[in-house]
Amino acid sequence: MWNPFSRKKPLPDPVTDVEIARSKAYLNARIGFDIDGFFAEQSVEAAMNAPLGSTAECLSANEVARTVEEHLLTAARRVHLYGCAECRRAVQTYQAVCAIEFEPESNNLSIVGERIRIPAQGPFYIDVVNHGKRPVLEAIDPDSISIDGMVIGSDCQIRPLDPSPYDANEAVRVHFGKYELQFPKGMDASCDFIELKAESNGTPLSTRKLVCMRQET
Ligand SMILES: [Zn+2]
Repeated sequence: MWNPFSRKKPLPDPVTDVEIARSKAYLNARIGFDIDGFFAEQSVEAAMNAPLGSTAECLSANEVARTVEEHLLTAARRVHLYGCAECRRAVQTYQAVCAIEFEPESNNLSIVGERIRIPAQGPFYIDVVNHGKRPVLEAIDPDSISIDGMVIGSDCQIRPLDPSPYDANEAVRVHFGKYELQFPKGMDASCDFIELKAESNGTPLSTRKLVCMRQET
């Protein structure tokens, strides 16, 4: 009976260092393929600088880390983030891991939505939800609110919202009567972190999120 596992031929001798060197020289001379260079590029450093997303413009792991830790985004990166959900997700995931820097009360707070519309006229608002058990949002002192990032705002009013659509315990809409947009020159949309800070009965609260903003004309 035919046995497919039976070996008729003896095993080949192991490849020697001399043969490896000769093969590398052959590849390099014939097709210009630098095999040592190729393997050197497959380092951890190279992997950390390679795009994480599916396009060549996508952020690398190093860039995602710098974005979250230093909040420095070039205009080109803001444009890319505006259009690339993959990169926004990478940044948000990294940010969630770093969120422990906030006060314990703030860990449960989050800004609702990824895209914030700035109307051509009148106030704009940001919705904030609290997933924590202790209510803190409705007791926020409107004068203590500050917002930093692509938009700087003041003249705040807080209105309670129904938290149930957000699966949260508390939700408010923060209206800004006055605001100033800090978009890159010549742009009516941008993507960057905004940070909202406030005080509620003496407890400092803060939450930060990567959001895309567009001003309507
Ligand atoms: Zn991307």
